[in-house]
Amino acid sequence: MRILVTGGAGYIGGAVAAVLAADGHDVEVLDDLSTGHADAVAADVPHHRLPLRRVEEVLDPTFGAVVHLAARSLVGESMEHPERYWHGNIVETLALIDAMRAAGVPRLVFSSTAAVYGDAGSEPLVEDTPTRPTNPYGASKLAIDHMLTAEARAHGLAAVSLRYFNVAGAHGHLGERHDPETHLIPNLLTAAQQHRSGDDYQPARIFGTDYPTRDGTAVRDYIHVSDLAEAHVLALEHARPGTHEILNLGTGTGTTVREVVEAVREVTETDLAAEEAPRRAGDPPVLVASGARAERLLGWVPRLGVRAMIADAWAARTAVGSESRPDA
Ligand code: UDP
Repeated sequence: MRILVTGGAGYIGGAVAAVLAADGHDVEVLDDLSTGHADAVAADVPHHRLPLRRVEEVLDPTFGAVVHLAARSLVGESMEHPERYWHGNIVETLALIDAMRAAGVPRLVFSSTAAVYGDAGSEPLVEDTPTRPTNPYGASKLAIDHMLTAEARAHGLAAVSLRYFNVAGAHGHLGERHDPETHLIPNLLTAAQQHRSGDDYQPARIFGTDYPTRDGTAVRDYIHVSDLAEAHVLALEHARPGTHEILNLGTGTGTTVREVVEAVREVTETDLAAEEAPRRAGDPPVLVASGARAERLLGWVPRLGVRAMIADAWAARTAVGSESRPDA
């Protein structure tokens, strides 16, 4: 199938494009490199360096599907500049939906997020857990889910939204490279690299040690980017005309921040320092998915645990050299 991957030069989009191509699909990437990296797109994959609002220039009826990951995705930025999220996520995705309808492209897999649930309590979240996003980022992704439900019903689109929990690890050499980097595992790996180099370094920080959890730190459901990418292939196969499916992608297992810190120490064989810091604004204490629906509908079962995520992310960044690509 000919498939357009929007955001295919990003951390997750690059992995999704690679897995789709390995599965025999004809993959093309649309990414304006506003946050992505050109080298995340394989040399033999056509790369359209265009913003999403110009996607109609690329789509034609020979495309069988779009996998849509292009988005703004920083919670803090979304609080300070919500308008960027209404334009960048909602308005630009409407341009995509319009272009798909005009070109007759029948299938869409959409990159959604656990942030649509907000602070939803400590039980594993199922897809009909009430959605109460606590920031414009989550609200913009939820608005798109509503758009897709209506588009499927009115115009027959086959749509699947995948609500990602905490994505980590590396798919081969494709690791996380955000600037600024806010995520726990990359921050810990940076501290471990600096510790090993013997330089003075900023200790990693643990945000919040007074949560009502087993060790006082926040619990998250970490999922390996390769497992996540695999779910997109299955979602495309299972998309049905006129239907919008919503699926959580997590492992059902929560890990505390302290447990992640300990696992990073073990995998990287460093005694990295982690200092206790106040809670980060807007962080819910616990976010764990029930992956039961994705397993039932797609036959998708995540295989790789937190240690594999850390080991793969560590291998990807040490392979390219810590000093030349500190955010790799
Ligand atoms: N966190 C931390 N130190 C860091 C970065 C994150 O303690 O340097 C915590 C954060 O407060 C949250 C968890 O680790 O409880 C996961 O954060 P991350 O930013 O990786 O993902 P999020 O859950 O916010 O999407």
